[in-house]
Amino acid sequence: MAGKTKLNPSVAQTGRRKFITTTAVLAGAALGGVAMTATAQKGAQKGVLLIASESENICATCQFWGAKRRISRDGKHVAVKSLGWCNNRKSPNFGNITGPQTGPMKVWEKWEAIGS
Ligand code: SF4
Repeated sequence: MAGKTKLNPSVAQTGRRKFITTTAVLAGAALGGVAMTATAQKGAQKGVLLIASESENICATCQFWGAKRRISRDGKHVAVKSLGWCNNRKSPNFGNITGPQTGPMKVWEKWEAIGS
């Protein structure tokens, strides 16, 4: 009888981590030229995409986005290190992997780490 094979959870998580690392490099390469400002490119590290923290309605600055990201020291950029998952049940992308510039989204909410 044909059936689906379930992955051991630890194996699945390891695969997920590898996927995130791999896709981060791809996303950075694909989106970097579009997203980075001249200033942002200067401070960029390999595999990190800098997006202006004042950007609205995109995943990189959204409260519901599950990705490796942090705010720059000056607070002007979000440093994105991976693709992420949408955790907003009101979004059509809920549960899907999205890139930092996915949007615009009406159900976007500002990531509280950015501040006001
Ligand atoms: S898809 Fe929309 S709601 Fe989901 S994380 Fe991205 S901006 Fe936020």
